[in-house]
Amino acid sequence: MQTQQHATVQMDALTAFAKRRGFVFPSSEIYGGLAAVYDYGPYGTLLARNIRDAWFRAMVQLHPNIVPLDSSIFMAPQVWEASGHVKNFSDPLAECKQCHARVRVDHLLEAAGVFADEKMSDEEINALLREHADAVRCPQCGGSDFTDAKAFNLLVQSNLGNFTGNWSAQPTYLRGETCQGIYVNYKNVLDTARVKVPFGIAQIGKAFRNEITARQFIFRKREFEQMEMQYFVAPDAMMDAYEEWRAKRWRFYTETLGFREENIRWHEHENLVFYAKAAHDIEYRFPFGFKELEGVHARGDYDLTQHMKASGKDLTYRDPHTGQKYVPHIVETSVGVDRLFLAVLTEAYEEENLGDGKTRTVLHLPGALAPIKVAVFPLMKNKPDLVAKAREVFGALSAQYMCEFDDNGNVGKRYRRQDEIGTPYCVTVDFQTLEDGTVTLRDRDTMAQERVPASDLAATVAARIA
Ligand code: ATP
Repeated sequence: MQTQQHATVQMDALTAFAKRRGFVFPSSEIYGGLAAVYDYGPYGTLLARNIRDAWFRAMVQLHPNIVPLDSSIFMAPQVWEASGHVKNFSDPLAECKQCHARVRVDHLLEAAGVFADEKMSDEEINALLREHADAVRCPQCGGSDFTDAKAFNLLVQSNLGNFTGNWSAQPTYLRGETCQGIYVNYKNVLDTARVKVPFGIAQIGKAFRNEITARQFIFRKREFEQMEMQYFVAPDAMMDAYEEWRAKRWRFYTETLGFREENIRWHEHENLVFYAKAAHDIEYRFPFGFKELEGVHARGDYDLTQHMKASGKDLTYRDPHTGQKYVPHIVETSVGVDRLFLAVLTEAYEEENLGDGKTRTVLHLPGALAPIKVAVFPLMKNKPDLVAKAREVFGALSAQYMCEFDDNGNVGKRYRRQDEIGTPYCVTVDFQTLEDGTVTLRDRDTMAQERVPASDLAATVAARIA
């Protein structure tokens, strides 16, 4: 994707850039913002849409046995009881006695080099907290005196359908993960979509979690978006499917998105939840270090079995060839749009030194992800013939992809603006265009310029972006 070693990308620079160029804004900023909630600006909206499209293409379009789903954010409260979220979907929360910051104790321990995770019991995590009291520091004030950790449930409650104000009634939650919508629709899909095991259901949608720490920009949001695929297989086929999906998901990052291999790695879970058979995360090297980007998990038959028990509905599958009956096992792949957005920005961002004291900021985005594919400029805005021809070129190209028309300032500045937002190609219409019908096509990464017949532009650009 780019030449620069991005380990040098600073989070502050990236956050400021994302705001300045209209990629990401803090939510409700005119009121001081809302912690861990962010909005996508004009270019951010386009980039996020292209990220979703790339995932959808890789998962659904290229797999005839994977079908899409769009389930609701609200689900029957029993779903979250059956899935175990009401009881167990929690992170260990403690308070710094000095500055009263709420902290995630597993993260504090990890930062001090001690292995811990959110699946540990209160006793286990508090024992570690006491044992390593000297090493553990509050990220806000540096203090080292904390209250005992308590499991804090991450589900976000709503008052949907509660017209009585009776708060002891079971609340309706905003979904904490999108995959539950897939499990509860598994039978509907099986009965209507002409699929047979092995098959997958893929879904992109919002999820909500009362995350304890509100740091690290869009890496950890309280309202975020997931892209999840649940692959239903025969019990004895699960581990093969697991390895197959691990390989495919790796290639999605290295080949489809062009991430450099040194920036991603596998992390195998040491501490599996009791029902899981295997779990790996793909970690990305964010500006704050390697962190989870995607999870690939072999979940066994836990999810369908739980919903079968709680709903009383038969969710078994009968193999049409062998007649064998079983509850399908599941391989899950799950990645957040927002985390992938941050990874893509980190991977693509460069403050390039052009020599002679000149620099440019450039986003080396793959063509498929670039918010704007082509920018079209008339060389001068006060020459009606040039503007009319440039409008004509813009009209032809924008029928195919997102383009921008810019006639403001000198061409060099216009190139820089497009470099910053990752536009792969700029087209300039000049006086020669009026004579011989050719335009200047300029490449974002090499900055090389060539003359191309305007009539060939659409095909030339399409081939290169593909
Ligand atoms: P973490 O350990 O970082 O909290 P997790 O293991 O709880 O993540 P999962 O429940 O496995 O995450 O969710 C699958 C994916 O959804 C994650 O790999 C991540 O890309 C994304 N995701 C999870 N929580 C958030 C969040 N709060 N903000 C943004 N993306 C998230």
